[in-house]
Amino acid sequence: MVDQLTLEQRAAALQAIVAEVKVCTKCPLWEGRTKAVPGAGPTNAEIMFIGEGPGYNEDKQGLPFVGQSGHLLDEFLALINLTRDQVFIGNVVKCRPPGNRDPLPLEVDTCTSNYLFRQIEAIDPKVIVTLGRFSMNLFFPKAKITQIHGQPKRENGRFYLPMFHPAAILRNMSLRPEAEADFKKIPQLLADYAKQPKTPDGGKSSTDAPEKPTQLSLF
Ligand code: URA
Ligand code: SF4
Repeated sequence: MVDQLTLEQRAAALQAIVAEVKVCTKCPLWEGRTKAVPGAGPTNAEIMFIGEGPGYNEDKQGLPFVGQSGHLLDEFLALINLTRDQVFIGNVVKCRPPGNRDPLPLEVDTCTSNYLFRQIEAIDPKVIVTLGRFSMNLFFPKAKITQIHGQPKRENGRFYLPMFHPAAILRNMSLRPEAEADFKKIPQLLADYAKQPKTPDGGKSSTDAPEKPTQLSLF
């Protein structure tokens, strides 16, 4: 059994990722960036939001979701009495795609395998909220966001909740009521997480462990 990491070890792992991301040249996106955007938030965050990649403002500041999309994310967080310093906010790719184009599969694969999946491991959040299609497709391959937004799945103890990207909501405000309803599911997921039976590895495995992780759909 792998020992649980201490908070200090997890914080150190996150810091190491920040240092690597800042100087990363592992995919072509580094060439167009001003600043890489590693992500931000507490090591012990219970909720992790994963966006697509830095936009214009994020690239200038080196921080995630600081433009209009970020403002909307703050409004959504306020709906459930949270502020952004209480959650971790990251992205699929850490460098801005030129002209905000979609990230390419090679860029997504390179960046997530080197950084995002390590961040998830270090933070070990109870709930991962995917913002938009690229983030969703990491955990719900081939799913359509219009069909599955707001429908959480549970895998190895953790919840995954797909949501519309804030930029999509800004482009089409008629999505907002649905997005708000999706967001308001987060507190219940945290409460349900606490209800799971404790197992020797911290409640992450089921006793009748199948070969493939079980995917429990709640709704
Ligand atoms: N959009 C994203 O997907 N990520 C950001 O950090 C900002 C805007
Ligand atoms: Fe490195 Fe990710 Fe930036 Fe590509 S997008 S250069 S993999 S940090």
